Formats: sequence, C-alpha cells, structure tokens
Amino acid sequence: MLAVREIRNEFSWSRSRDGSFQDCRRKYFYHYYGAWGGWAPDAPPDLRRLYILKQLASRQMWAGRTVHDAIEMALNAFADGRDLPIEPFIRDVVERMRGEWRGSNTGRYRDEPKTLALFEHEYAVDLPREAWQAMSRNVETCLRNFFRLPLLARIRVTSSEHWSIEHWSKVFDFEGTPMWIAPDFGFWTEEGRLALVDWKTGGKNGDGAAFQLGCYALYAAELLGVPPAKVDLLEVNLREPEVTEHRWDDERLEAIREQLRLSIRSMKAYLADPADNVARIEDFERTEELRICRWCNFRAVCRPEL
Ligand code: SF4
Repeated sequence: MLAVREIRNEFSWSRSRDGSFQDCRRKYFYHYYGAWGGWAPDAPPDLRRLYILKQLASRQMWAGRTVHDAIEMALNAFADGRDLPIEPFIRDVVERMRGEWRGSNTGRYRDEPKTLALFEHEYAVDLPREAWQAMSRNVETCLRNFFRLPLLARIRVTSSEHWSIEHWSKVFDFEGTPMWIAPDFGFWTEEGRLALVDWKTGGKNGDGAAFQLGCYALYAAELLGVPPAKVDLLEVNLREPEVTEHRWDDERLEAIREQLRLSIRSMKAYLADPADNVARIEDFERTEELRICRWCNFRAVCRPEL
C-alpha cells in the first residue's frame, strides 16, 4: 500500500509573505498558519472558512494575474514558433474573465476554492458596472501594449531555448531558507547579458519595486551564478507602456541580503517553535490601522464588526 506523505508547513520566504507580515501580524498568521490544511473538503468548518478567505483576490490582483497568464501563454506560443492574432487573442482573454467573474459572483469558490474568488463578491462590495469595465479595459490595454513593445521584438530575435517563461526555478535556497522569488520572464540578450523582466499592470510602488528587483538580482546571483554586473533588471509598466532598466551592484546586493535576513529573523521571532515552524494565534497581534482591515481577506473572522 502506498504511504500518504503528510505535507508539512515549512518555513519559506516570499515577497508577499513579507508584505503580509508588515501589514498585520494576525493577517500573516491566518494566511500562513491558520488556514493550513483547509484545502481538505472535510476540514473543520472554521479551518475551511479561513482557507477560502485566504484565496480571495481583489479585482486589481485578478487583473494582474490575468495579464501575467496571458503573456505567459503568448510567450509559449512564440517559443513554439507560432504567431498569434492579437485582437482575437485579447478577446479570448476577456471572454474567459467574464466566465471567471460569473463563477465568483455565484460563489462557486466556496465548493471549489481553486476557482476565482473575488474579495468584492465575498464581501459584497457595491461596485458600479463601470469599475469592472475599467478593469477589463486596463487588461486589454496592457496586453495590446505588450504586443507592441520594442522589448518584445528584441526578445523574439533571441533564441527561445534560453528563455525562462515558467521560471528556471521558482524556489532557491538562501542561507538555509527556501526563497520563493522568480522574475516573470528571463532571457539572454544579444549582447550576452541576462535580462530579468517584471511585468507591471498597476501604478508605481516605489520602494517595493526596488526591493523586488533587488530580489531578482539575488535570484540571478544565487540560483544562476550570474553577478549583478552582467544582469539587466527590466521593470515594464504595461499601462503606459514604459520600460525602466535598472542595474545592480555587489554592494546593493549585500544590502538586499541583509534586508532578507532581517525579515526572516523577525518572522521567526514570532514563532512558538521556530525549528518546527509552529505558531500560536495569541502571539500575533491585530493591527490598529483599520484601513488595512477594510481590505483584509480575514476581516469576516477577525473583525466582523467592520
Ligand atoms: S482584519 Fe485587520 S486585524 Fe484582522 S487580520 Fe485583517 S488586517 Fe489584521
């Protein structure tokens, strides 16, 4: 008989994990510990509820994910030597979104948590039709801009054998901690440099973007063994569209390492048992900033009065 291996909740690091920890300790607890195991259909109702709340995405997150998935699909087609009719391709994407939206609106995700679960639906946020239309138009604009990018032409003349579409690797080891950091896309330029790309569909987010790109420089150095001097970090704002090229150096890379060590240390300091990654809810305080609560997935269980 096959033994069923228990999936362990192991500590790992990601940018979103760090963001959630900075936002609110309690939210971080629910997301990374409280909801653990709630994927099982026969999980206790409280646990199942946390797991379903954990999956909620705002409409902006959903739009971003849709654009990223569509770009991945397009790059895979180009890698296979296929061309894409742009407008029908975009129409398909929007049509799929409509289907997902309807599924979310009828609460399908409560039985099938892997399907789209919009925060706006779970919390009955009253949004005018125009807000949804604006979001869908933004997706279309981002995709149209993607296909027109001079950068895309530059990518397509390079050998697709060396493209990283679904990531060369999503996770790597950093001083004993698994790190979930991967650029959206990577390729080797004609000049023999490594280019790592970040597709952005929303507004600018200053420091956060710099930290993210620094993490990509770390990915290049630790996983691929490519030093910062040989890496181009490309931040592509698809809304404008605008490509910003960043360069990194060893000193700034060391600053990123230090920032990561600090982040990992702070998260582990909250654990009841850091070796086994065990957390207790009472050790994770709730934020006092109610504006964070307003858009928090776990508001229904944590601060239902809001
Ligand atoms: S509702 Fe507020 S306090 Fe509770 S987990 Fe969310 S952000 Fe934290």
